[in-house]
Amino acid sequence: MSRKPLIAANWKMYKTPAQAEEFVKKFLPLVAEQTRAEIVLCPSAISLAAVVAAVKDSGIAVGGQNMHWAEEGAYTGETSPLMLKAVGATHVIIGHSERRQYFSETDEMVNQKILSAVKNNLTPIICIGETLDEREAGKTEEVLLRQCQIALKGVVPESAESFVMAYEPVWAIGTGRTATPEMAGLAHFHIRSQVARLLGRKAADAIRILYGGSVKPDNASALANQPEIDGALVGGASLDPLSFSKIVDY
Ligand code: PEP
Repeated sequence: MSRKPLIAANWKMYKTPAQAEEFVKKFLPLVAEQTRAEIVLCPSAISLAAVVAAVKDSGIAVGGQNMHWAEEGAYTGETSPLMLKAVGATHVIIGHSERRQYFSETDEMVNQKILSAVKNNLTPIICIGETLDEREAGKTEEVLLRQCQIALKGVVPESAESFVMAYEPVWAIGTGRTATPEMAGLAHFHIRSQVARLLGRKAADAIRILYGGSVKPDNASALANQPEIDGALVGGASLDPLSFSKIVDY
């Protein structure tokens, strides 16, 4: 089954609205001709409106980097799915390892956020991945299967067909260390098999599974050549328009 590649930029806590607009101005002409991949830009919440306006009519989608599962409430500092929708976002990253590591997000919270994203018609980009200790202890597959199982609890198979998952080994994020294409390919195979067990073959075949972890212009194509890898979630190398356009073009 052919899945359209998706390349997503996670700008983390970088770029003011003006800097985000400047990025888009330089980036659009660099990718104007390409139709092979879908592109999603995920700026900070404060820059979402500026990026949505800047990419208008370009076919590029915009996503949040996180959200609360509640639609509104007394949750100081949080962003709700209704707010993401209102500003024009169509996607949302859920369960990024930095959220899990620094903000104590659990698999159960990730699950609540996914169910809320579905309810609010936002496409979740669900991040899972093992730490270095877990990999060295031979627990990679076990961790991925557990993260998938809890994340996808209560999800209706049909609604999962548009989901995006991202395999992001924690030891490869922002470290310059990348999983080899074979390591990533195997992890993606485990994830897709688990989705098939939980939600059925149709959803598993439709879901796009991105690789994330120190993707750069010079390693993007080797990773993308793995049949189980459907694109990339890119942090550091997405901050520069030229470098990100080269990854989109790999
Ligand atoms: C990320 O933040 O999701 C990521 C993969 O970061 P980097 O590309 O910098 O490793």
